[in-house]
Amino acid sequence: QAAGKRSTSKGKVKVVFFLPYWNDGASGTKQANRKAPLLELDSVDASSDMIKEYPFSGQQTLNLNTLQTQFKFTGLSAKCYEKFVQSHRLAFAFYNYARNDLASEDTLSGTTTRDSHPLHRHAARFPDVLLHLPFSFLLDNLPPPSDTPIASEVDAEEPPIQLGNILKCMKPPLCFSDDVGKGKSHSSNGNHRTQDSSVASPSLPATLEAGASDVSIENFAQEKLIAELSRLQDTEIASANLNQDLIRLISRSAKLLPSIQTLSTAEDPKVHSILRSFLLEIIRTKAYGEDILMSDQRFLNEGNMLLKEWRKCCERLYKFVSINSGQVNGKTIVLTDHRCNLHVTKYDCVERAVRLPAALKACRNAGAGTLSSFPLIDRVEQSYIELAEKKVIERAHTSKYVRKIKERCAALRDTDKGAELTEDSDGGGNGDTTGTRFSFQAALIGVAAALQAADLVVGGRCTNALCVTRPPGHHAGRVMHAMDAVSNGFCLLNPAACAAIYATMSSAEGGLGLKRVCIIDFDVHHGNGTQDILCNTFDPRFFYISLHAGGAQINGYETEDSENDFRSFSSKNQDGIFPGRSGDVSPHAGVLNIPLGDKVTPHDVASALLKKIEPAVADYYPDLIILSAGFDAHKHDPLGLGGLDAEHFGSLTEVACNLARRCCNGRVISVLEGGYGIPCCRPQKGLFLPSPAKGLNSQPSVGRTAAILDLDLPEEMDDQVTPGMQKKLERCHQEGFIDCVQQHVRALKNNNRRSN
Ligand SMILES: [Zn+2]
Ligand SMILES: [Zn+2]
Repeated sequence: QAAGKRSTSKGKVKVVFFLPYWNDGASGTKQANRKAPLLELDSVDASSDMIKEYPFSGQQTLNLNTLQTQFKFTGLSAKCYEKFVQSHRLAFAFYNYARNDLASEDTLSGTTTRDSHPLHRHAARFPDVLLHLPFSFLLDNLPPPSDTPIASEVDAEEPPIQLGNILKCMKPPLCFSDDVGKGKSHSSNGNHRTQDSSVASPSLPATLEAGASDVSIENFAQEKLIAELSRLQDTEIASANLNQDLIRLISRSAKLLPSIQTLSTAEDPKVHSILRSFLLEIIRTKAYGEDILMSDQRFLNEGNMLLKEWRKCCERLYKFVSINSGQVNGKTIVLTDHRCNLHVTKYDCVERAVRLPAALKACRNAGAGTLSSFPLIDRVEQSYIELAEKKVIERAHTSKYVRKIKERCAALRDTDKGAELTEDSDGGGNGDTTGTRFSFQAALIGVAAALQAADLVVGGRCTNALCVTRPPGHHAGRVMHAMDAVSNGFCLLNPAACAAIYATMSSAEGGLGLKRVCIIDFDVHHGNGTQDILCNTFDPRFFYISLHAGGAQINGYETEDSENDFRSFSSKNQDGIFPGRSGDVSPHAGVLNIPLGDKVTPHDVASALLKKIEPAVADYYPDLIILSAGFDAHKHDPLGLGGLDAEHFGSLTEVACNLARRCCNGRVISVLEGGYGIPCCRPQKGLFLPSPAKGLNSQPSVGRTAAILDLDLPEEMDDQVTPGMQKKLERCHQEGFIDCVQQHVRALKNNNRRSN
C-alpha cells in the first residue's frame, strides 16, 4: 500500500511504502519481502497510479479476520503475515490521520498541529514529522498477529493507531522514548481488541450434568430480548406468545438431551430422527418468531437489533441441542452416487465423465471416508429421489421442459453416447448439452443428493456436506436456455436451486421450513439457471450471489445502454462469455452479480469477497448457505477464464463457512458445478501420462494426481479427449481440478465446528 500526499515541491508526491504488500506487485520476491524494511520513504513524480485506494477506507476499525482472509489471496508466504498486518495497521493509521486530523484541523481552526508543533519542519500539507515516528516501536506495542484463525463469532476488531493524538502528546526530546507508548495507549485506551461490551452475549450452559433445572432462557436470550418478548406478550399482536414458546422449547431440550444420551449409540436412527424433528421445530419457531417481530413496528424501529437477537437466540438453542445430542461436533459428509457415471457426454465435450471419480479422489485425498466425522455416502437414498421427482423439480423447472428432457433420453438406445439433449437456440447444431439414455436419471439423482444433503445439514447430522454428482446444474433454468442463453451449458436439472426450494418449503409441504437461503456461486460462469428459478422476481427467501467472468464490456455493449434492461438486448451471439448478459447486472435486491471481466483473478475475487459478499451475506443473515462449487476459475482450466490457484478455492470456502458460522451454526451445502482441468486418462491403455512429445523428457511433471487417479477410475470408464484438448490439459498434471476440489473439501472439513 502506498499512502501519499502532495508535498510542497510541485509534481512530486511523498510516498510511504509499506512492505511487503507494495513490492509484491512490482518486482520483489517473497523472500525479499520478508527481509525488506517495513517503512520506506521516497519522493517521486506524481501519477494517479501512485496512490492506490486503501481497501478499508470508510471503516472505523481494522478487522483482523478480514485481513487474514485477504492475505490468503495475495500469494505471499505465511512468513510475511506479520508484516502484512503491520503494514495495514500503519496504512490504516495514515488513512485515518489524513481523513480525521488533517481535515478537521483545517476546517475548525486556522492553526493546526502540524503548523504549531515543535518538531514541525516544513509547512507541507503532509507533515514530515509524522513520517519520522518510531513505527516499529508503536507496532511492537500491539498484540502480535497470529496465524491461527480468530474466533469468528466475535469479530476481532482493532481501533486504528491515532497518529494525530501521538503528535499532539509528543514532548520533545522525549518523543522517541516510552512516553510515545503511553501517549498511544492513552489515546486508544490500550485496548486493541474490542468488542461491543454494552451487549453481552448470553453463555450457553456448560454441560448438562449439572441438571436440567440449570438450563434457562437466560442462557440463550439477552436480557433486553427477554424483556421485549414479555412486553409483546401483553400486547394484542397476533396470538404472540414467543416468550412462552421459547421457554417451552428450552425446557423440552433440557429433558430431551439426557434421554437421547441414554440411547445406545449416537448413530442410532432413532436418535437421528428425534434430533432432526426437534431441530426443525427450533427452525420453525425461529421463522415464526421472525414473522411476528417483523410485524411489530417498534421492533423495526430498533434497527432490527431485537430481530437479530431473536435469530441468534434460536441458533444458540440449535447449537446447544446439536452439540449435546451425542453427535460429533464438527462433521462433514460427502455424498455421491455411481449412477451419475452413466451420463456420458460427446467426444469433444470438456464435461467428461472422469470428473466424478476425479472429484471423489480429491475427497479421499482430503480424508473423506476415513473418519466417523468425515463419512462418504456412496448412494443417494431412494426416498430423496422420489421427493425430488414428485415434489421439488416441478417447482424449479416447467413440466414442459422436464418432459422434453425425459423424452429425449428415453428415445435413446442403451448404447447411444453423447446424444444431443437440449439443442442450441438457433438450431445450428452446436448444442453443448449431450448425454445418454440414463442422463435424466443421473440429473435426478444429482437433485436428490442435494436434497439429502440439505436434510442432513439442517437436521443436525453434520455441519456441512458436499454433493459430488454430475451433470452440473446452475445453467438449467425454468425453461430451456434460461435468460436467453445460447445453450444449456451441460446442465439438465438444477440441484442447487432445488435444494434451496426444498429447504424453504414449509414442513407441511414436506420441506425444512427455512426462511432465508443464500446461494454463493463461484463457478467461473454466471448461474443463469439458478437466477432464473429463484430470483426471476424478488423473493425474500432467496439471495443469489455469483462471481463470474463477464461484464458489459466483455459482452460487447456499453453499460449505459443496459441499465436494468438487459433482457431487451439480444444475447444470441457467441462472442461474449457464456451464458451471455444475464450476469452483467443485478436486477433486484435478491441478486448480487459480480462480473469480473475476461479473467477471474485472485485480487478481484478477494476484494469482491471482502467488500461485497461478506457484508451482504452478514446483513441477509441466511439460515443456510448453498455453494454452487465450480472450479473452472482455476488458472489451468482449459476454458481459460480463470486465474486462481487451487488454494484460493480453499480460502473462498473458508470465508463462506465462517459466514455460515456467524449466521447459521455453520450450515453449508456444496454442489459440484463446473471445473474441467483433469489430464487425459485412458485406463484401457494403461496411459495416464503427459503426451509423449512433451512428457518423455519431463519426468517430474508426471503428476501425483494423475498417477493416483488411474487406480480410481471405474473399469468401464473410457476417457476420450481430442488431441488439442489433451495438449491443453497437460499442465493440469501440475495442478488442476483435483487439487481445487481437495482444497475445497479440506476447507469444509476444517471449518465445520459449531463452537470454537
Ligand atoms: Zn458464478
Ligand atoms: Zn462453469
